[in-house]
Amino acid sequence: MHSTSDLVVPSDAAERRKRRRVVVYPVETLPIADLDLLRAARKGLTTVDEIVVPPRDARAFRVPQGHFFRIVSIDGPQVGDLNLWNAGNLAERFFSGKTRALHATHVGVGDRLWSTLPYLRPMATITHDTLGWYGWDDDGAGVHDVIGTRCDPYTNRLLKGSDYHNCCHSNLTRALASAADLSLAEAEPHVHDVLNVFMCTGFTRDTHQYFMKASPVRPGDFLELFAEIDLVGALSACPGGDCGETHSSDTVACYPLKVEVLRPEPGALAGWAPPRENAYPRTHG
Ligand SMILES: [Zn+2]
Repeated sequence: MHSTSDLVVPSDAAERRKRRRVVVYPVETLPIADLDLLRAARKGLTTVDEIVVPPRDARAFRVPQGHFFRIVSIDGPQVGDLNLWNAGNLAERFFSGKTRALHATHVGVGDRLWSTLPYLRPMATITHDTLGWYGWDDDGAGVHDVIGTRCDPYTNRLLKGSDYHNCCHSNLTRALASAADLSLAEAEPHVHDVLNVFMCTGFTRDTHQYFMKASPVRPGDFLELFAEIDLVGALSACPGGDCGETHSSDTVACYPLKVEVLRPEPGALAGWAPPRENAYPRTHG
């Protein structure tokens, strides 16, 4: 909430506010996924791995380039916080902010999860979403946001003065440390802003504050992505459960999530070209 006590409104305020809106990044030149090819490939998938993420904890998983993976709701409504890294280079990781700027505050089928600079290429493409019907509700909320950062014990300490060890940030740190054979101190800096899978969020109309409401996800729902590069992922079953009440505590019902890794039929990706690292030469002048 901004303080308004010392505002001076200029005489041409209304005129300045009437300027036309310009979408920051035009989508016409954004490399798009071949959804027809991916839709055909997803018809012949074989499950090659399944990982169950316990409530209030996280697990890491690997997805080979050219495979698909699904994040599945199983026992009850549950939000998942997703991190992704290039399996061969942890410095290349999911770039939530640029994904938001290139696509929207919430992502869906056809949108891509972009990697950090200087790589800036699609790490994964969303190929199916059983919650795609939700759209935008009367509060302006949608699902699968790339706005939120992840619940973390530092903000919790800042706001509540107490410690909670099963925030998504800590869960993801432990999961990556275990998967990549790193200490917790080594793993923590690799944990980054998430894709909030199944989370239902928006901004309040009057104050533009980030809000959450109970996720519409139900057991059987899933978000499916295509791995454009070799991936290591980590998924936290947020201690907020469906994120309809609170988070960063043990007070609400919390459920496991499942990750399925799926392989397409041989030849199903004929004609698909893996994304290259960004071609900018990094001379900066
Ligand atoms: Zn969380």
